[in-house]
Amino acid sequence: MAKRKAGYRGELQLDYHLKFISQDKNMMILHDLRLEIDDRYFQIDSLILTPYVVILLEVKHIAGIYTLDSRFDQAIRKFEDKEEAFSHPVTQVERQKKQLLRWLTKMKIPSIPITTLVVMTNRSTVINTFSPHEKYTNVIRVENVEERILSLLTAYRKEHPSFKQVRKASALLVKKHEPLIAFPEEIYGISREEIITGVQCPECRHLPMLRKYGHWQCLKCGGKSKNAHKSALLDYSLLLGDEITNKQLRKFLHLESRKTALKILQSMNLPSTGTTNNITYYITHHTDEQTSHQSNSSYAKPIH
Ligand SMILES: [Zn+2]
Repeated sequence: MAKRKAGYRGELQLDYHLKFISQDKNMMILHDLRLEIDDRYFQIDSLILTPYVVILLEVKHIAGIYTLDSRFDQAIRKFEDKEEAFSHPVTQVERQKKQLLRWLTKMKIPSIPITTLVVMTNRSTVINTFSPHEKYTNVIRVENVEERILSLLTAYRKEHPSFKQVRKASALLVKKHEPLIAFPEEIYGISREEIITGVQCPECRHLPMLRKYGHWQCLKCGGKSKNAHKSALLDYSLLLGDEITNKQLRKFLHLESRKTALKILQSMNLPSTGTTNNITYYITHHTDEQTSHQSNSSYAKPIH
């Protein structure tokens, strides 16, 4: 959670400094891309698609003194007298570039110019190198990101007028992005049986609510709700997966009646497959964030 929050804060910082650029209609910024190549996934923090070049960004939100060390291909972070090693961000971002190039070749969009940047988003970070001979021109502070992108654009505009290819790539990247849904089972070893089921009271957080005469009733505070099952289903999709059957719904919402369960499923207009007695429903969720985001920047990540 802490790691994810730091990453998210870094992205917000980056977004803030890209405000001017992101208003350009020819530019698109994608965060947290997750793509598959040869049955394996690779992730990209941020990708800026411009008409002439694709800029791959690795965002580092790290406090303290951050020393790049090419001898051992590592980065050392010193914070409050404690030292910690990380992988070298330049090696990391170059690896992602190779993976993206391979992916694009597989998608039949080769010869697209890609360049990389490591963006340090924590203003208090001191960036250092182990030896004075080490030089990394693509490691920058977030304050300078916009200026750097503009100069990259000028440079690539002369070299590669690859407008069409980049357009094609951007459409494909959005289509092929597979968001990471991290189930607690896989990450923390929490089994399905340990997850507390039921509809939660929106007033007092009590579990479970009781279904009575077409609404949900809380036995603790007496609160009533018509659609408290919606957030229960959102929880279900994040904890257990986005496929659900009538039987699974009854178990999760503590419902006896198959008919009531069917009514609820039908009221939500979920896409489904299968025949009458064996229907699988797919829980879809549209967050407000996705629809109200004003800039061209989009968050692919479902959980913050
Ligand atoms: Zn309650």
